[in-house]
Amino acid sequence: MAVEVAAFVEKSGRIPTLATVLIGADPASEIYIANKHKACEAAGMKSVHHGLAADTPEADVVALVEELGADESVDGILVQLPPPDHIDPDVVVNAINPAKDVDGLTPASAGMLASGRPGLVPCTPAGVIELLDHEGFDLNGAEAVIVGRSNLVGRPLFSLLLARNATVTICHSRTKDLAGVCRRADVLIAAVGVPELIDAGFVKPGATVIDVGMNRTEDGLRGDVNFPEVSGVAAALTPVPGGVGPMTIAMLMANTLAAAIVRG
Ligand code: NAP
Repeated sequence: MAVEVAAFVEKSGRIPTLATVLIGADPASEIYIANKHKACEAAGMKSVHHGLAADTPEADVVALVEELGADESVDGILVQLPPPDHIDPDVVVNAINPAKDVDGLTPASAGMLASGRPGLVPCTPAGVIELLDHEGFDLNGAEAVIVGRSNLVGRPLFSLLLARNATVTICHSRTKDLAGVCRRADVLIAAVGVPELIDAGFVKPGATVIDVGMNRTEDGLRGDVNFPEVSGVAAALTPVPGGVGPMTIAMLMANTLAAAIVRG
């Protein structure tokens, strides 16, 4: 990213800039935001943080997000979710200028992705595809199974895998015989939020398994996959921490640069 950012800076004479917004002081969100700012610095990009009090009215948050949308110096806008209970995340996300939607969460970005058109893609699903590409995994015709159908991970991943010609199945809490469906997968992606749900019985020998889960437990951070068990069955498996998490941040940098390039 640093090489690509440097090339953009030389060509355009300006530095790509990410604006972040955090409402309240949730400790986990503060860590995520700090990591995103560190990554911007490492990539040679600028970042500007807007920390708002936990009791900031929804209308004030929307006003700030709209202001950033109109600010010529800002290329990307990231609102750290979830907000406090009195704020509807959809209302805030809908206020993001789609050209600066580096989290890919606005209805405009989601619609472009679902209809197979180019646009800004949510960072975690984009990171999953980047990991698979980097490892040379051939998605063409592969059986891909996703566990989880959130707007943040499962649904956009469905569109991305379909666009790469995988045969995609998406599972959720009502899926019958979850383990049986998962065992069909050449590539199995867990984005569930249930620590170590996916054990060896869910995995076809030789499958590639991507663990998106980040669950804080009494024993520390755990993925959705039982790593010791599944590593004995899968051909490849991402660790938690250290797998998809860093990719998510890297893709945020990539999206911010992409937004800056489109804006010129
Ligand atoms: P979410 O919005 O809570 O969605 C969870 C999905 O899993 C839902 O579709 C739910 O089904 C399904 N599910 C829950 N329990 C299930 C079960 N027992 N069997 C089958 N399906 C089940 O979560 P999310 O935002 O997508 O996040 C998922 C995980 O990824 C979390 O651990 C989160 O922390 C992590 N995450 C990591 C990153 C990263 O950068 N690494 C980024 C985002 C999220 P229903 O729809 O039927 O309720």
